Order: sequence, then C-alpha cells, then structure tokens
Amino acid sequence: MRIFVSMVMAAGLTGAAGAQVAPPSEVLDVHDHVAAVSADRIEADITTLVSFGTRHTASETESETHGIGAARRWIHDEFERISAECGGCLEVMYVSETISGERRIPDPVDVVSVIAIQRGTTDPDRMVVMSGDIDSRASDVMNAEIDAPGANDNASGVAGVLEAARVLSQDEFAGSIIYAALAGEEQGLFGGRIVADYALEQGWRIKAVINNDMIGNSAGIDGVVDNATARVFSEGTRATETPEEARIRRFTGGEVDSPSRNLARFIDRTADQYVPNLDVMMVYRLDRFGRGGHHRPFNEAGMPGVRIMETHEDYNRQHQDIRVEDGIEYGDVLEAVDFDYAAKLTALNIATLAQLAGAPPFPADVTISGAVRPSTTLSWARPEGEPAANLMGYRVYWRLTDAPQWTHSRYVGDVTEFTLENVVIDNYYFGVSSVAPDGSESPVVFPGPAGSFGGY
Ligand SMILES: [Zn+2]
Repeated sequence: MRIFVSMVMAAGLTGAAGAQVAPPSEVLDVHDHVAAVSADRIEADITTLVSFGTRHTASETESETHGIGAARRWIHDEFERISAECGGCLEVMYVSETISGERRIPDPVDVVSVIAIQRGTTDPDRMVVMSGDIDSRASDVMNAEIDAPGANDNASGVAGVLEAARVLSQDEFAGSIIYAALAGEEQGLFGGRIVADYALEQGWRIKAVINNDMIGNSAGIDGVVDNATARVFSEGTRATETPEEARIRRFTGGEVDSPSRNLARFIDRTADQYVPNLDVMMVYRLDRFGRGGHHRPFNEAGMPGVRIMETHEDYNRQHQDIRVEDGIEYGDVLEAVDFDYAAKLTALNIATLAQLAGAPPFPADVTISGAVRPSTTLSWARPEGEPAANLMGYRVYWRLTDAPQWTHSRYVGDVTEFTLENVVIDNYYFGVSSVAPDGSESPVVFPGPAGSFGGY
C-alpha cells in the first residue's frame, strides 16, 4: 500500500495533459490481504480457546489451563506474539471493570476485555474496531463450572480477530485499527460498554465497529447448508438520535441511512469486490429479532457499528449443555465449526478494515440543499494538516429512495461543495465519501445528523 501511494504522489495526481484524474476504483493490496487469511490458523485458535473448558464470565481465573482467566491471558499473549512479528506494532492491553449487582452478575466479577491497537501513521486517533467475544455459556447462563466450549459462540469471532491482527499488522494504514476480544457478552454486553466508555475517555474517534458474533456455522437448523453468504445487521436510525434530530429526519429522510447502515452497505460492496463466493445479506435491523450483540453498546455510545454473522444458525449448537437427546446432538463443539467459512467471513472483515483504516478522514458536517430547483448541492467540512495527509478528494453518491445500495457516483475532486446539475433532490438519497490516492475510501456519509459519523 505504501509503495502504491508514493507512486501516485509522484505522478502528481494529474494526467499528462494536466487533466484531473480519478482515484483507482480498486485497492489492489486488499486482494493480497484477503488471500493471506488462513483457515488452519483460525482452526488452531478456536481449538485453543475451546481447550479452556469454559470461558464463562464468572469462571475461575487462577488456573493456567482452565477458565476465563487462562483464556484472556492466552489472547493477550497471542496479541504480543503477533506484535513481535511486526516490530512491536501493537499496543496490547486489558480494559476492565468490576461488575456486581446485575441480574446475571450478582456477585463482584472483573470483566476483562483484551484489546490490541495498531496505530495509524497520519491519523492515529481515528479508529476502526474489529471485535469478537471471549466468554461462553451453556444451558444455564449462571453456571460457571459446566463445560461451555463456545466453539462457534464465540471462539470463531475471537479467532477471526486474531487472524485479522496477524494479516493487517504486516501493513500500515493512515488510521488506527483496534482488535478487540470483548468480555461479559452473555451476561449483559458488559465488555462492549466498558470499552466504549474507555474509548470516550481516551478521546478516540471510533468511526466503525465491526462486531463478529458466530461466524463459523454453515449448516443451519433450517436445513440450509450455506457457506457463500453472511449477514450484516445494522440499526436504521441512530440509537442516540434526539427528538429534534428525529423531527428533522421526518422531512429530509434518513430512516435507512444511519452511519451503521452505510457501514453495512460498505461491507456489502466490499464482499462483492474483494471476497470470492461471498454475498452479504444486509438485514435492516439492529440485530436478530429481539436479541442482542456487542455492537449495541457502541451504538448506544454514539459510535457506528454492525454485527457480522453466519446466515443460517443452529440453535442446538448455541447456549446448550453438551448432550444427546432423542438422537439430537446439542452443544457448541469444535466438530460443528466450518473453519473455511469462518476464514471467509474473517477475510470480509480484513478487506473492510484495510479500506476504512486506509481511507482519509470521513466527510464531516455534510449538508444538502436543492429544494425547488433542478440541481442538488452537497457540502462538507475538510480537515487540514497531518490527518488529511492521504486525502485525495471526495466522491458524491446517489440512489433511488427504495434502492438498497448506492447506484450512482461521481468523483468530484478535493472540494468541499459540489452541485449535481439536473439531479432533483426529491427523487434520490445522496451522500459523500472521502477517497485516498490508492482508492481506499470511507463509507458514504448521508447528510445531516441522521447520517453523521460524528466529525472526522
Ligand atoms: Zn451467545
């Protein structure tokens, strides 16, 4: 990626005759990152995580081979081993709080997440996060002793996070990437809330959370065997939207254009472009019907975030004591995980993270106007100085209001306002993205508070 950037810089971003040049529509390095993902390493990591017997949040912490303490120390050590391979490029840390008095954590328990930060070269406080969950459970959510291998739920997600760190730490990006193994998910989404609070304290600008929760089951309880699709869940309006913002949205649109939703569209497009034999099913809802995941506490802290997940679940393999009943096998065991499929969904994460971290600062303060005239004008704010070092320009997008994906776009250069002539504002939804010289691009940012990624 670095070599390609410098080549384009040397060319001065203009053609021989001085005409304006559009950035490439494809980031070639992303193909290499996708090809580097190893299903064997993911299998080895899931196997190790399962070997701790249980990773229940309240399980023992003293043993080196059993329970949540051993599991999180192994994840920490693994991040350190990965960091050693890239000259110490990862900052590895525990982020924890003692929780008590909760329905599923009545007695005090240290809820300890493990995160590793790969710092960006020019905009290090801009962060994108890939997460999975450390903890597991069996039939009784309070049983901290019984075997709870949690092979798919959610060793698969943590193994994906570790593999992403291995692959992407071999490259450098403008913005930072956080690799997160979150704790306390099954007991009430505690790790995500704790890490979101910590990020706000640190002043990190978290622009995207890609939460992976169960990415390794390809044989569904519905009888469908499918290793070629993935679901991406996203909220339609921001959890933090104020009544005044909702009032504005009623007149301008934006019900299906939250930053999380446009992150989902970005991931959908990424699958089509970079991951062979994988199609994204965008689900227009926060999560599965009435159920939760660790992207939610980030959404509640005002941060865009989605859940990536297998398309066909097997409920007999989730939250179940290991047993055979009436000939049916229950339990979240290693044998039921499809490691090649987990690798494919990991590749989707990696392709997404590489582009988002490689993108320039996302468009901020996007506004739109054009009522009662035959043109539509978008404007936005542009950062100055070091954070904008890899900013080449902006691309304006539009689509019919009932289209699921952006269909029209135009690269408009390094400007902060653009008017689309003879495109009537009433008939489309609009947005704008920022683009780097190598083609790395931000998600499309829908105008106004409904679509805002919250500043640069
Ligand atoms: Zn679960």
